[in-house]
Amino acid sequence: MKKCNCFCSIIPPDMVDNLKKNGVDVGKGMANADRGFRMRRKLKIASMGAIQPLVGNANRIVYDCQHTTNRQLALVRNEGAAASVDVSVNNAYDFAGKVREFYRTVLGWNSIDNNGLDIILNVHYSKKYNNAFWDGSQMTFGDGDGVIFVDFTKSLDVAGHEMSHGVVQYTANLTYSGQPGALNEHYADAMGIAIKQYALGQTAQTSDWLVGADIMGPQLQGMAIRSMKAPGTAYNHPLLGRDPQPDNMANLYTGAADNRGVHINSGIPNKVFYLVSIGITTVSATKLWFETLKVLKPMTNFKGFKTAIKKMAKKMVNAGKLPATTIGIVDSAFATVGL
Ligand SMILES: [Zn+2]
Repeated sequence: MKKCNCFCSIIPPDMVDNLKKNGVDVGKGMANADRGFRMRRKLKIASMGAIQPLVGNANRIVYDCQHTTNRQLALVRNEGAAASVDVSVNNAYDFAGKVREFYRTVLGWNSIDNNGLDIILNVHYSKKYNNAFWDGSQMTFGDGDGVIFVDFTKSLDVAGHEMSHGVVQYTANLTYSGQPGALNEHYADAMGIAIKQYALGQTAQTSDWLVGADIMGPQLQGMAIRSMKAPGTAYNHPLLGRDPQPDNMANLYTGAADNRGVHINSGIPNKVFYLVSIGITTVSATKLWFETLKVLKPMTNFKGFKTAIKKMAKKMVNAGKLPATTIGIVDSAFATVGL
């Protein structure tokens, strides 16, 4: 298991802080709150019989936390098993399948680690837990409080985002701080939205380019956690505050909050990805981004990222894998965000 340098939650800390400040119960629980879960997992799997591996596929294994902070508590659905009566279990299972399919079919990548790693999904984490996260080895989803956020398993782009943090961990392993951390967040958003567009048959032109629109509660309809098309405009609400994302280097966040702005400055590369997708299609942009991810280093910053994307674009155009227009479109997209 390659070591993860992040605790990657979909709801950024500034948003959580605003909710707490405004008296919203965000739900208790942290990734390290559950002790002994590995032992329980072994026991549960043994009690339900061995899981049969599928050729070329990672197994999806869904656990119900039963509203506790104990993960891998009760095994409720594994690969190939019939649907559950619990919609959260089925959402987690189905969406993990879509993510796995996208990586395999479009990017030629087998599961999270390219080696068929099992996909472990925990649902009903804690009580009214307003978040979902990847902790280096598994996904965990809260139910939301039903007011600000609803069930976090409801969103394919959230599932794609969290699992893509796992893919980043097994490729560039971008350090979860400052600009490398913002690139880590960016990759999770880009892959998440690309997976959603692919699964729903959307294009760069027809997608809303919103991350997390499906988990917003009744008070926040029409808002989202982030907008890749128009960073900084996803939400503006008394309980949540205002979307802090910049879409240009001129407004780069340089403070200490949010691991030095990982969920804030990701708006800049997000905008680049949106613009390139509009120019060459999201699938082509995703291929370019993913091939580049394989050569990035843990400390790559935005400038290094731009250099690497441009170099990879040339290589892929020369190999006939991308249209010749890609190079000009990439240049112009980076220029638009001041990079
Ligand atoms: Zn994230």
